[in-house]
Amino acid sequence: MPLRADLEGESLQSFRMSGVEWDVLKKSNRRVLLKMPCCGERAIAKTSRLGTQYFSHYRKSESCDFEPESKEHLLLKEVVAVAASQSGWEVITEGRGESSDGQQWRADVLCKKNKAFVALEVQLSKQNLEEFKVRQDRYKRSAVRAAWFVGKSQFHHSKPSPSKDLPIFYVDWESGCTNPQVIDFEMPLADFVKALLSGMISWKDEPEEYKVLFLKDTCWKCGNPVNLPYGYSIGVYGDNIKTVPHCDAILSEIRKIVGNDFLRENGVNTIHSHPRLKGNAPNFPNCCVCIHCGTPEANCYLYEKYVASCKCGYANSGSATKIIGRCEGRWEVEL
Ligand SMILES: [Zn+2]
Ligand SMILES: [Zn+2]
Repeated sequence: MPLRADLEGESLQSFRMSGVEWDVLKKSNRRVLLKMPCCGERAIAKTSRLGTQYFSHYRKSESCDFEPESKEHLLLKEVVAVAASQSGWEVITEGRGESSDGQQWRADVLCKKNKAFVALEVQLSKQNLEEFKVRQDRYKRSAVRAAWFVGKSQFHHSKPSPSKDLPIFYVDWESGCTNPQVIDFEMPLADFVKALLSGMISWKDEPEEYKVLFLKDTCWKCGNPVNLPYGYSIGVYGDNIKTVPHCDAILSEIRKIVGNDFLRENGVNTIHSHPRLKGNAPNFPNCCVCIHCGTPEANCYLYEKYVASCKCGYANSGSATKIIGRCEGRWEVEL
C-alpha cells in the first residue's frame, strides 16, 4: 500500500504528516478527493497496527496491479523513506519510472538528488535471485542505482555472496519491532540508509592471494641456496605434502595455479616431471628442480626435510604470494 496519495493535484506523503495532521485529513471533507498513485482510484487514509500511516484503495480496483503489502513492509518502507528524506534527498514513495527500452517500474522509495537517482526496495516476501537480478538490471538501464532491504530469511540456506552489482542487505525486523537493524552491520536501518545515501557504504574488492609455502635449503648438487615448495594456502584453506607420493599432487597443484615462471621469479624451485628419478614414488613423478643447476630434488628428501622442519617449528620456512583473482568482496561502512 502506498505512503503517497494525490489530493487535488498535490502529492501527499503520509510519513511527512504528524499524527494530528493525519487525523485531520481522515476527518476532512477533502478525504473523498484522495486518489491512489497506482491507479487513480479513490484512496483512504489508514494507520497500520504497527502505527504506519498509509493509503489504501477505498474499493478494490479491478484494473490496479498494486500488490497488497504487509504491515511490516509498510513500516520498513516508512523508516527508509524518512531516513532518506532526512539525508537531504528528495523522496517519493512508490515512485515510477521507465528504462531506456521502455520497461516500467515502481520503486518503494525513489530518492533524487540533482541528477542522481537511487531506488530503495524493501523485499520481505520471497523473491528468487533471478528476479532480483532482472529488477536490478531494469534499474541500471534506467540510470537508477538500487539497493535491497530483505528479511533475514529471504534466501534460507542459499544466501548469495555479497555482490557489487546487486546490493542486498539483510534486515532483522521481527514483527512489531520499531527499530529494525541491518544484520552484518549492526546498525539501525535508518542510520544505515543515511550512511548509504551519504556515500559512506562502499564496495571493497578483496584480492585472492595464493601463498606458496617453501623450505629454505641448499642444493645438494651445486650448493646454492634454494627454496623447496611443499604446500600452499589460499584464504583459510591450505594443503601441504603428507606422504612421499602425495608430493606429486601438491607440487602439480602449485605449478598449475602459479606457474613455473612465478616460482623462478620468486627464487623457488620450479616443478617438473621426473618419472624415473630414484626417490620419487612410482607413478608420482612431479618433483622440484634446482633453479640454479636444474638438478631434481627427489620427493623422499623433500618429505624428510619437511618433517624435520615441522619438528623445529618451521624455522627455515618462507612463502611467496601471488594474487590470482578477486574474491567476492564485501560492503563496508566508513563512518
Ligand atoms: Zn491502485
Ligand atoms: Zn643446484
